[in-house]
Amino acid sequence: MNWEQVRTFIKELGEPAYRADQLRKPVFEEGISSYAEISTWPESLKKALGGQDPILSLTLKEMTVSNDQRCWKAVLECRDGKKVETVLLRPSEARWTTCISSQVGCAVGCPFCATGQMGLKRNLSAEEITDQVLFWRQFMRREKIAGRLSHVVYMGMGEPFSNYAEVSRSLKILMDQSLFNLAARHISVSTSGIAPKIALLAEDFPQVNFALSLHAASDELRNFLVPVNKAYPLEKIREALKAYLQKSSRKIFLEYILLKGTNDRPQDAENLIRFVRSVGPLELLHVNLIIFNQTDSPFEATAENDARVFQKKIMSAKIHSTVRQNLGRDIEGACGQLILKQ
Ligand code: SAH
Ligand code: SF4
Repeated sequence: MNWEQVRTFIKELGEPAYRADQLRKPVFEEGISSYAEISTWPESLKKALGGQDPILSLTLKEMTVSNDQRCWKAVLECRDGKKVETVLLRPSEARWTTCISSQVGCAVGCPFCATGQMGLKRNLSAEEITDQVLFWRQFMRREKIAGRLSHVVYMGMGEPFSNYAEVSRSLKILMDQSLFNLAARHISVSTSGIAPKIALLAEDFPQVNFALSLHAASDELRNFLVPVNKAYPLEKIREALKAYLQKSSRKIFLEYILLKGTNDRPQDAENLIRFVRSVGPLELLHVNLIIFNQTDSPFEATAENDARVFQKKIMSAKIHSTVRQNLGRDIEGACGQLILKQ
C-alpha cells in the first residue's frame, strides 16, 4: 500500500481526515486483506477504495513451507509482472521474522549466490519493499497464526545499498509508529559493501542493525567472491566501518560464508583476524560464520566440524563469533538461494 496515495485519495473523495486514520491499525498492524473489513467505514467508502486501490501492490503466485514448519517462502508478482521472493521465518517459538527483497535480481554477481546469477532486473519501490512485510502480516492473520511479526531483515534478493533511496523510504515506513510500528533494533540491513552508503546508514538510521557481507579478508579473494570489492576494496570498507562506529554505537555484524577450500583455510582465518582487529573495538564487532546453502555453483560448504575449528581460531584472537545455520534449506528459501525465472 502506498499510504500517502491512499490518504490523498480519501481526502479527494471529500471524506474527513479521520477516515484515513481508521485504516492504519487494521491494515498495518492487524493485517486485514480487504477494505470491506474496516468495520468503522461506511459501505460507500469501502466500495470506492476497493475499486480504486487494492491494499497490496503484490499478488501471491506460489507458496512453499519447509518440512519443519518454521519457514515459508512466497513468490509475489509486482504490477509489471516482475517477481520477488520473500520469506517468513520462525527462528524460535515466539519470534517471527521476515526476510525481504530490495531489488529484482542483483547486479553484484557474487558467484556463490543464486540471486547474483540472474543479474539486476530492476529496483523495488518502497511500496513493494514494505508490501512484503504487509503480505506476511496478512498471511499470519489469514492462517490464524498467533504472535506478531516483529523482526525484518533486508537479506532477500538484491543489494539494498544500490537502491538506497527506496530502501531508506521503506525503513521510515516500517518504523513509523502509526504504520508498521517496528522497532529499529528489530530491523537489519545487509550489504555486500557499497562503502559510501555505510556511514550514511549510521547517520540516517543509527538504531537499525547493520551487517556487512565480508566473506574474504584479502582483496584478491574478495574481488572474486564479492565482485563489488573491485570498486570498494577492503581499505575503503575499513574506513567506512570506522566511520560507522563513530556515528552509531551499535554492533556491526560481519557475515562470512564458509566455502570449503576457498575461504576457510588457516591463512584466511588469519586475514580475517587481522582485518577485524584493524576496524575498531572488538566488543563492537561480531563475526557471523554462515554455513553455505548449496546453490547451482562450484562451491561446497565447509563441514560443520571444520567450521568450528575456524571459529575457535578467530575466537582465540578474542573476536566474538557465532556459526549460523540457516532455516528453510529444503525449500530453497534460505539466504542466497532465492532465484526466479522472470
Ligand atoms: N546483497 C546483500 C543482502 C542480500 S544477501 C548482501 O550480500 O549482503 C544476504 C546474505 O545472504 C548475505 O550475507 C549473503 O552473503 C548471504 N548468502 C548469499 N548466498 C548465500 C548462500 N548460498 N548460502 C548462505 N548464505 C548466502
Ligand atoms: Fe547480490 Fe548479496 Fe547475492 Fe552478492 S550475496 S549477488 S550482493 S544478493
